[in-house]
Amino acid sequence: MSDEPARLADGMTPAPRERARVLGHVCEHAGCVKHGGFGFARPRQEPHWFCFEHRDDGERYL
Ligand SMILES: [Zn+2]
Repeated sequence: MSDEPARLADGMTPAPRERARVLGHVCEHAGCVKHGGFGFARPRQEPHWFCFEHRDDGERYL
């Protein structure tokens, strides 16, 4: 029973990169700030993360 209007999102404009960081990883493609849901990594190496659109970029790390 709250009278608070559910319009918090309207006044908030978080940077896309900031929001993606909350989700986990940001696409490593230059200029892309989407959520990197696709991880590419060789054993004992740092994983590289890319979004659906740029996941082909990650193939080179495999
Ligand atoms: Zn991307």
